[in-house]
Amino acid sequence: MSWAGTILRVDLTERRIEKEPTSRYVKDYIGNAAIAARIFWKEVPPETRPFDTRNILMFSTGPLTGTLLGNKATVASKTPVRANNPFAFVGIGGQLPSEIKFAGYDHIVIKGKAAKPVYLFINNNDVEIRDASHLWGLDVHETQQRIKEELGDPEVQVACIGLAGENLVVYALILHDIDNTASKKGFGAVMGSKNLKAIAVRGTRGLKVADPKEFLGLYDEFYGEITKGRATALAKMLHTEGISRQIAEGYRCAYGEEVPDELPLSPTKEWVSKYMAGPIGCAFCPIQCHQNFRVPGIGNGGTVCVNYFGLLLQFMYNATDFELWWKRTMLANRYGLDTLQIEMIGGWLMELYKRGIITAADTDGIPMERGSDEAITILIEKIAKREGFGELFANGIVQAAQEIGKGHLDLADQYNNEFPYGWNDYAPDLGPVAQYRAGDLERVPGYADAYGNIFSYADILGVSPREAQKLIDQWCNEASERLMGDPNLWRKPKYDKRIGPWIIEKETEFILGDITGHCEVMSPYLEHYGIKFGTTNDNARWLAAATGIKYTADELRETASRIRTLIDAYNVLCARMIGEKPVVAKPIESLVSFPQPGRPKGAELRMIQEDYCKIRGYDSKTGIPTRERLEKLGLKDVAERLGMPAKHA
Ligand code: SF4
Repeated sequence: MSWAGTILRVDLTERRIEKEPTSRYVKDYIGNAAIAARIFWKEVPPETRPFDTRNILMFSTGPLTGTLLGNKATVASKTPVRANNPFAFVGIGGQLPSEIKFAGYDHIVIKGKAAKPVYLFINNNDVEIRDASHLWGLDVHETQQRIKEELGDPEVQVACIGLAGENLVVYALILHDIDNTASKKGFGAVMGSKNLKAIAVRGTRGLKVADPKEFLGLYDEFYGEITKGRATALAKMLHTEGISRQIAEGYRCAYGEEVPDELPLSPTKEWVSKYMAGPIGCAFCPIQCHQNFRVPGIGNGGTVCVNYFGLLLQFMYNATDFELWWKRTMLANRYGLDTLQIEMIGGWLMELYKRGIITAADTDGIPMERGSDEAITILIEKIAKREGFGELFANGIVQAAQEIGKGHLDLADQYNNEFPYGWNDYAPDLGPVAQYRAGDLERVPGYADAYGNIFSYADILGVSPREAQKLIDQWCNEASERLMGDPNLWRKPKYDKRIGPWIIEKETEFILGDITGHCEVMSPYLEHYGIKFGTTNDNARWLAAATGIKYTADELRETASRIRTLIDAYNVLCARMIGEKPVVAKPIESLVSFPQPGRPKGAELRMIQEDYCKIRGYDSKTGIPTRERLEKLGLKDVAERLGMPAKHA
């Protein structure tokens, strides 16, 4: 129940379509990226490169996807944006995830490469590989429109790539509708490497849950809480201009700073209010946290927080220049380019130009001046088309740094070509991951984030900044109490033995949100903003009502641990087989630094990492899962392949 029951397999080389039951995976892996990881483990050799025909691309859902409590799918593959090409995944929302379930599928597994451009049309039981030669070269909006017209059904849900994906630009994205992307992992390029322009899905079969009465009761409880106003306001703020206003306008407050009585004036509020056409979002979700912007002469598009990071980071645009930001965000979107990557590459080039390391001659005669419409436009065009200096960047910033940057990778805010945060992923590198996770204290609860947004939050709620501050303090206290039994621990940047288990539980909740198909925005990920649903216990209750399987909270913790460990083990093999040296670069300076409170460093941080590894069952020196742990999680085959000694020292 609540699983659709079928995995759809498409081999583009052989033009073969097969189906298999999902049931063999659900007990131990439940759904989404967890099942994807297991399929990768079994079927994709670790040395496989992202654009090899052996690589697979998966669109996966969880048991809550398509119900009132879940709207998310995951796209998974080997990523071209990181050294060693690990297994990675990223969420995608909108109507597509539910449509996949309603068509009767939990996962779509795509392998091989079509001989010429194609798109996949899934219409309930009927699955066709259709010619897409006439769509090749079209932008992501035109492509979706043309497919709907061609199929004569505006309700068909389409996810597609633009020119950037066709040209294998490594940070190309997949776009669905106007506001839902699978970005940051380069999966648009993986899709392009398969000559797959789009997937189009129509599903009318519906979905059943095991206990409808109980399920509706749980939904009412959830809905009642999230629509009380505060949590909703915060989710909306994160996916509207709030997140950029905190930096672009100095519309923020640092942790520990005096909070004023009155809100300061917001210079961009008028522009933003004028062009916001209304909220949009995922199927069934009462929050609808994305915003539809319609700007005459520029275009109609959707925004989420990542788009606003262009302004937040302040690398490429001048402060408050929303007009240029929107113009170029729309342009990058239409080509199917990740705007965040463009922001970082553009920012890096502008920094090099400012310091005299490069001149206009290095960038096809275009001076890379910060805030220049011409520079940003040409950068996007040339990268998407792989023309001139854009060709260098199409493979990521590391390669470009060797040539155009004259070795100045140290000015690039890049980590193996990727944005350095581990969003929507169980970050795939081991030693660094344990370090990153253990050090990632500002998000658990994310007090720096919350304080940075006090003005926007007060604005949306209609309360004073001081009242907003009190609420945030209260929620951080509650989160700290729930996870560590001490309401004040979050304020102390010191080692404490309760921090290790706290990180693990937070990670568990994040993993469960993914594998069930529940939205991570409406989860304890934002607990510091007062969102109280999506804990391990909540997931156990939701899963019981939806699937009829009564998982205990501890069983779910073990499932999360199995998934985390499996992914880490697979990526250890990728690193061993491919063996590229990771590159960690120093960030360039943004115009305004984001205020961060202190957090444990040095020896104290190392102690937290050791606690983390101990609980996870990883070797604390290498970060690699131990044989004992793997066997305990039912992953003996993984231990064998990792070549672990029978008894770990
Ligand atoms: S809160 Fe989550 S499910 Fe709802 S619209 Fe936003 S991203 Fe989609």
